[in-house]
Amino acid sequence: MSHTHEGGCLCGSVRYQVTGAPQVASICHCRYCQLRSGSAFSISVYFAQDQVQLGVGAVKTHELTTASGRAFDTRFCTECGTTVWWTIGTRPDSIGISGGTFDPPSFWYAIDREVFTRSSAAFISIKSPEQCVTHPAFDPVHHDPARLVGESKTKDSP
Ligand SMILES: [Zn+2]
Ligand SMILES: [Zn+2]
Repeated sequence: MSHTHEGGCLCGSVRYQVTGAPQVASICHCRYCQLRSGSAFSISVYFAQDQVQLGVGAVKTHELTTASGRAFDTRFCTECGTTVWWTIGTRPDSIGISGGTFDPPSFWYAIDREVFTRSSAAFISIKSPEQCVTHPAFDPVHHDPARLVGESKTKDSP
């Protein structure tokens, strides 16, 4: 399990290396991830902090408090804007890596689950072992504006 994988941002100035297998890899359909990525979902690949070596490129931190009252601090390249990694209160000892930023073969890990399917795009169909309408640790302490919540879906059929 001492395999290493490298990755980084679009312009190449921010780089990282991870060792071993992720703790968990999720597809996240939440509005925070849709907005920070500008896309329909993000891929969240979590590692213990000592599995990750961060390079020297300049990053900026965007600090967000989630509806559950937890810190979600995303790090993005100051040159090209790619969100490369983040820390989040649900996994205080982990680093989340943006799953699309690994060097090829980029998608070397397996997806364990999908979270926040309540705001997933209708055109997405992903085969994952587990789906959560929100997240197992979701416990709102404040209400986000509608643009950060997304549609409430009641469909149960595929
Ligand atoms: Zn960059
Ligand atoms: Zn998310």
